[in-house]
Amino acid sequence: PVKNGKDNLSAVLYGKDDMKLEQRPIPVPRDNQVLLQMEVVGICGSDVSYLAKGVCGPFVVKDPMVIGHEASGTVVECGKNVKNLQVGDRVAIEPGVPCRICQLCKSGSYHLCQDLFFCATPPDDGNLSRYYCHDADFCWKLPDNMDMEEGAIMEPLSVGVHACKRANIKIGDVCLITGAGPIGLVTLLAAKAMGASKIVITDILDVKLKMAKQLGADYTIKIDGSLTEDQIVSKVIELLGQEPNASMDCTGVEACVRICVKSTGLAGVVVLVGLGKLEMTLPLANALIKEVDVRGVFRYCNDYPTAIEMVRSGRINVKPLVTHRYRIEDTLKAFHTARTQEGDPIKVLIYCNPNWKPS
Ligand code: NAD
Ligand code: ZN
Repeated sequence: PVKNGKDNLSAVLYGKDDMKLEQRPIPVPRDNQVLLQMEVVGICGSDVSYLAKGVCGPFVVKDPMVIGHEASGTVVECGKNVKNLQVGDRVAIEPGVPCRICQLCKSGSYHLCQDLFFCATPPDDGNLSRYYCHDADFCWKLPDNMDMEEGAIMEPLSVGVHACKRANIKIGDVCLITGAGPIGLVTLLAAKAMGASKIVITDILDVKLKMAKQLGADYTIKIDGSLTEDQIVSKVIELLGQEPNASMDCTGVEACVRICVKSTGLAGVVVLVGLGKLEMTLPLANALIKEVDVRGVFRYCNDYPTAIEMVRSGRINVKPLVTHRYRIEDTLKAFHTARTQEGDPIKVLIYCNPNWKPS
């Protein structure tokens, strides 16, 4: 049924510094799955970590694994039980598929399911390939006014949406975001869309802060060693005109989490998005006396529809995040850009559809 017959070029990671493009069989969808012609796949920090170190946090690449999980595709075949999609539908792929029957799944925290399939988290294959099968209920149909690049960016944007939901962002809130990498930037976009009125964002690099400004940050603070921790906290409060209601760390750096805890106002929230050292020293008594809640964030849960709606409605524009585009044949070059940060990339995207032509 599939055009282009046998071509399922796939980016397979064998281990540290060992990635190859190879042909794999075109998979057959199960009854509840769709076969997707893959369109656009973004590179995430975790993908780079698997290539550069062979590990990401506790996960280790042991067997060859197809990389890629920030993706969009077009439905080319439906399993017999699929009701929500048709051939030709364009979808954003939510990469984590839970068991659907455990207590966490049933109570609505399916992202914490301990029996989760997740694209490109060992041992599960990802979808940087020409064709890929995925459960239809974790494919989100894209509105006509959204393109495949936006579809792929729904994955990181969903992390930002989830972080803001965990931070209780609502209209009129003032926020601190530490770190203006892709995740800090999508968190900024989501916070704005959810009604935050003033946001200050920090980074150590000017180019990141410049992009943050372009995307709507009200204030930026460059962290360059010239200010002490307490001076940075004072500057955050001075710029915002008050202590933030919510602080979202998107670095995983201890110094940043400390600043989040110290800056946040009475009854506020600190959310931890960045994943850094396993243990940190934090001024927790400061959180205690202010009744500041410190909350974890793990990916997303029921957040794709919100993320899609933010873009469909024109409330946010994710396009400025895209700085580099490659074809799947040039996957190694794309990873080189993401890894070395040559050319100041933010989002590096890979086109899997052989018909794509650079514009
Ligand atoms: P990134 O490395 O591109 O971004 C981190 C940013 O923090 C960079 O721009 C860096 O310059 C900046 N930074 C470093 N030290 C700093 C400091 N002292 N002060 C201010 N800024 C500083 O990574 P990313 O892709 O944006 O992801 C951010 C973090 O979120 C990573 O730790 C990643 O593992 C984590 N993450 C978590 C989840 C989750 O579900 N919780 C999902 C995706 C990513
Ligand atoms: Zn489950």
